[in-house]
Amino acid sequence: GSDGATSQRVDATRVSESDQAAAAARTTRAIAAALRDGQFVVHYQPIVRLLDGRIQGAEALVRWNHPRRGMRRPEEFIGAAEESGLIVPLGLHVLETACQDAARWANVAATATALGDDEPPVRPFVSVNLSVRQLEEPDVVPVILRIVERAGIEPGRLQLELVESLMLDTVGRPLEALRALAAAGIRIAIDDFGTGYSNFAYLPTLPVSSLKLAGQFAGQVDDDADVDGPDAGRESLSALALDHMVEGIVLIAHRLGHTVTVEGVETREQAARMLAHGADFGQGHLFGHPVCSDRLAAVFAGEPAGAGGRHGPHPTVM
Ligand code: C2E
Ligand code: MG
Ligand code: MG
Ligand code: MG
Repeated sequence: GSDGATSQRVDATRVSESDQAAAAARTTRAIAAALRDGQFVVHYQPIVRLLDGRIQGAEALVRWNHPRRGMRRPEEFIGAAEESGLIVPLGLHVLETACQDAARWANVAATATALGDDEPPVRPFVSVNLSVRQLEEPDVVPVILRIVERAGIEPGRLQLELVESLMLDTVGRPLEALRALAAAGIRIAIDDFGTGYSNFAYLPTLPVSSLKLAGQFAGQVDDDADVDGPDAGRESLSALALDHMVEGIVLIAHRLGHTVTVEGVETREQAARMLAHGADFGQGHLFGHPVCSDRLAAVFAGEPAGAGGRHGPHPTVM
């Protein structure tokens, strides 16, 4: 009868919930083992000055170099790392690696300049994604400061990126930690600005030095969009509306003394429009895909950041 059908359905739900819990537990164990085995590597995507296209720094993006499944993107494991708390040691690993790599690029950039470029030497910065979970750790400030000191980079060459939605309702310890890090000279950026629920009233009170605009603002089309997902049927904004928003955000950011970086820049036309709106920096496939530290060092040494250079085209991590 109908009662039997109902209880079967309930059982099926229970099974799938415990399946999910088991899968999450497996992923968590796998992440912990991968951390011990050194399978998490850091790739870097160039961040260029829009005015002249010169590379100024790079964003550190973690990848799981899985022995059987190849290079895995963060969307496959960051969620599980956040939920299990493993994002804390994973994030520190990324931060430590990124600061040490940034110290090496500084040497490469200085040498390349000495060899005949008339531009002043670039002091490359590295931008590292930080989870709010990391800011809840009681010793986060001294731990980060020690990493910077051991790497031997000026604190101003490290930028920490926090996702807007998480950051703006942040109170208490995470915000105190951010203030202490900013006071020590580390730069703080709001990542994917404009895609969460921006509370503009908070912006002037945050210890922030830059805003990163998500690729949609440059006109990037999200080809991964799930047709059945929450975005289904949502109309994409007209190019004109996007332009007005970017202009407005840049104006506010600059008035507050923040720089603006536009992510997901894929075409020359997009780069030109973002520059016309006053954005300071660009990041995206037009300027370079995420690459390993050695590749990025070659870019700082004077090789083009886009596809090409003597190492051949940059690999795209899928
Ligand atoms: P994000 O911080 O907003 O990083 C930008 C993402 O956009 C990267 O994806 C990058 O590869 C991708 N991207 C760059 N240029 C283009 C472009 O021109 N077109 C398109 N379509 N995409 C572009 P990725 O590497 O898969 O990282 C995804 C997200 O994972 C990051 O978004 C960040 O939120 C998170 N993440 C990555 N590394 C870490 C980390 O070490 N710690 C934490 N907590 N999160 C991380
Ligand atoms: Mg980021
Ligand atoms: Mg972003
Ligand atoms: Mg990419």
